[in-house]
Amino acid sequence: MAMGLIIDAVYFITAALFIMGLKKMSSPVTAARGIVWAGAAMVVASLVTFGAPQITLNLANTNLQLMLLALIIGSAVAYISAKRVAMTDMPQMIAMYNGMGGGAAAAIAAVELVKLSAGAESHGLTVQVLAVLGAVIGAVSFSGSAVAFAKLQGLMKKTLHLPAHQLMNIAIFAGVCVLGYLVSTGQPVSFDYVIWFFILSIVLGVMVTLPIGGADMPVVISLFNALTGLAVAFEGFVLNNAAMIIAGTVVGSSGTLLTQLMAKAMNRSLANVLFSGFGSDGGAAAAEEIEGSMKEIQATDAAVMMAYAQKVIIVPGYGMAVAQAQHKLKEMEGLLEARGVDVKYAIHPVAGRMPGHMNVLLAEAGVDYDKIRDLEEINPEFPIADVALVIGANDVVNPVARTNPDSPIYGMPILDADKAQNVIVIKRGQGAGFSGIENHLFYADNTQMLYGDGQKAVSELIAGIKALQ
Ligand code: NDP
Repeated sequence: MAMGLIIDAVYFITAALFIMGLKKMSSPVTAARGIVWAGAAMVVASLVTFGAPQITLNLANTNLQLMLLALIIGSAVAYISAKRVAMTDMPQMIAMYNGMGGGAAAAIAAVELVKLSAGAESHGLTVQVLAVLGAVIGAVSFSGSAVAFAKLQGLMKKTLHLPAHQLMNIAIFAGVCVLGYLVSTGQPVSFDYVIWFFILSIVLGVMVTLPIGGADMPVVISLFNALTGLAVAFEGFVLNNAAMIIAGTVVGSSGTLLTQLMAKAMNRSLANVLFSGFGSDGGAAAAEEIEGSMKEIQATDAAVMMAYAQKVIIVPGYGMAVAQAQHKLKEMEGLLEARGVDVKYAIHPVAGRMPGHMNVLLAEAGVDYDKIRDLEEINPEFPIADVALVIGANDVVNPVARTNPDSPIYGMPILDADKAQNVIVIKRGQGAGFSGIENHLFYADNTQMLYGDGQKAVSELIAGIKALQ
């Protein structure tokens, strides 16, 4: 059997494994296995590529040496960084890996286009157009993800709105289109056009992402994820590589679905996210007069309140992840249930810093799935809950999203924790949420603040509940 056929057959099997791995990732129970399956498929697909007729398997070959060197360095850096990364820094890492995927796709296109500019034979207009499309999408995803990384890492605290920002974006986009047209139809391709085309594409990614801030980041990250997949698929056509086409298409389509879900969770259209600078200014809402005052509660009192409640809804947010308080919450849930209290967890789709963040942590702690409720399911239950225990959540329970049209998060569906009879909020101090705006819930008459690190505060609640037995 010809080597090409064997490689295609292996690609087919690895693609099937990759898709099955993705399917497993849709549930926290099977997600870890899904990652192993998809990862193993990727390793096999990468290894079998070395059998391609274009690759000379001779260690004296400089190209082979460079490929092996890149693989060793890339694998070592990825392994060490993935081992070291804290769970709370995962989103930045994902943003960075997204960007790397886009950058790699753009780099493939760059090699092909530079080869064409040096007089290599063109494989036709379609291939050139696909190379250019993959290049622009990959480059935008690369530089945009770098900005998203800086924002999530806290390196870039403020969003940046330059004067006439959208006009500049339109001008840059027009430049990319014109240069892209010239490069994709050029016979031969001009080297200068290729260079300027890449520079403008990279600048476009930065310019589009700079003004996007606060609460909109989930949509942006999943959008770049989808774009990276698309760019890889386009470059798969350029290289005539089935594995890249399949993997890229699957990532592109699942990323698009995720983007839609995230946009729905924020009640935003994609155009709105990209062009309106949503979430970029917390000032308007922060400046608004807030009625009421923050009232503190001690852990022992909060424990009594929950122990004698009939229904407690726990609302976890990013702070729970920082505090790694999920195991303590599970322990507290057990104690409350032993006293006959009905305990549920309310999960907002954008709580935490990555899609499914809270679900993964609660699953890790062994919380039963039938106790975990989505926003639509749980909201009608808040008015009949005796206590809503908000732990490290802020933006996802901010009532300003319902009431203040000037707020950057106005229109985002929130968890109706404020409608519970009593609200206990665990947080360390006056820290704002990711969107940087004040939360009116903390000042409400029925809200009391339990200050402290999430894990420590829940441990104190546990001690308080135990003391009542
Ligand atoms: P927020 O970021 O709004 O709020 C987190 C709160 O946790 C802070 O107010 C902080 O207050 C508190 N906190 C931090 N550390 C601790 C700790 N150790 N113990 C107790 N509390 C702590 O979180 P939410 O989950 O409510 O909202 C998520 C936000 O992130 C949304 O704006 C969303 O759009 C955005 N986002 C979500 C992504 C996703 O995919 N899910 C991706 C990117 C952004 P204090 O400092 O006072 O303790």
